[in-house]
Amino acid sequence: MIRLENVSKEYKNGVHALRDINLTIEDGEFVYIIGPTGSGKSTLIKLLDGEEIPNSGTVMVENINVGKLKHSKVPVYRRNIGVVFQDFRLLPRMTIFENIAFALEVIGMKKVDIRRRVREVLELVSLQDKAKAFPDELSGGQQQRATIGRAIANHPKVLIADEPTGNLDPQMSAEIMDLLEKINEVEHATIVMVTHDSTIVDRFKKRTICLEEGYVIADIMKGGYLKHE
Ligand code: ADP
Ligand code: ADP
Repeated sequence: MIRLENVSKEYKNGVHALRDINLTIEDGEFVYIIGPTGSGKSTLIKLLDGEEIPNSGTVMVENINVGKLKHSKVPVYRRNIGVVFQDFRLLPRMTIFENIAFALEVIGMKKVDIRRRVREVLELVSLQDKAKAFPDELSGGQQQRATIGRAIANHPKVLIADEPTGNLDPQMSAEIMDLLEKINEVEHATIVMVTHDSTIVDRFKKRTICLEEGYVIADIMKGGYLKHE
């Protein structure tokens, strides 16, 4: 479960990025975070992955008080949540297999288990035949699928996706959404996805949390995209 209680974030320059946020996201939910540029979406993600700490309030992720984590504990915490970005961030000199395996090597998994899990993940993201390819040999959609595979390799309970379809055309974006829905079902991961893409929000209906000027201005179950006048 993810729970934010009275969370506020003010940056050093005096910008109030988030103001008194109260939110609960249950295990297994798939939630969109929407809102205009500057509304606080990235800040919310950064509070969830431990990159920023709130000025006040509590950020709980799977019973961990993320805002109170010691700096040295943040990398270990991050191993248990998957994060996917708009730019794919695959390691260019490693094959797709190696990129996914690497995420499991750093947590000390045994070689034989790594091989089994990477095969499983490649199948889940439909890249079995791209195991030996390098990132620049794949299309954008395929690279994003590989990134998602790497993010979920360690069975995270929470997957955070920051504009995962931001660099993709509508067809590839729909494929990524199908994949995220599959991961939500098969891996039982809670998914929090920041998006600007109103077509996606309208087509793949989910709980939608809308931010504006640091406030939650709407939280709609299976809602559509809010039009801003
Ligand atoms: P969004 O992701 O919705 O575009 P952000 O969370 O990036 O919104 O930004 C919210 C507000 O905080 C904006 O006014 C932005 O300029 C400001 N902001 C974001 N990051 C920083 C930072 N590191 N230092 C100062 N201000 C920041
Ligand atoms: P998808 O929709 O599955 O992401 P595309 O329709 O974009 O894939 O690509 C179709 C095929 O073209 C894929 O099999 C992919 O391997 C290949 N391809 C696309 N972009 C590149 C590239 N930059 N270099 C090599 N192959 C590519």
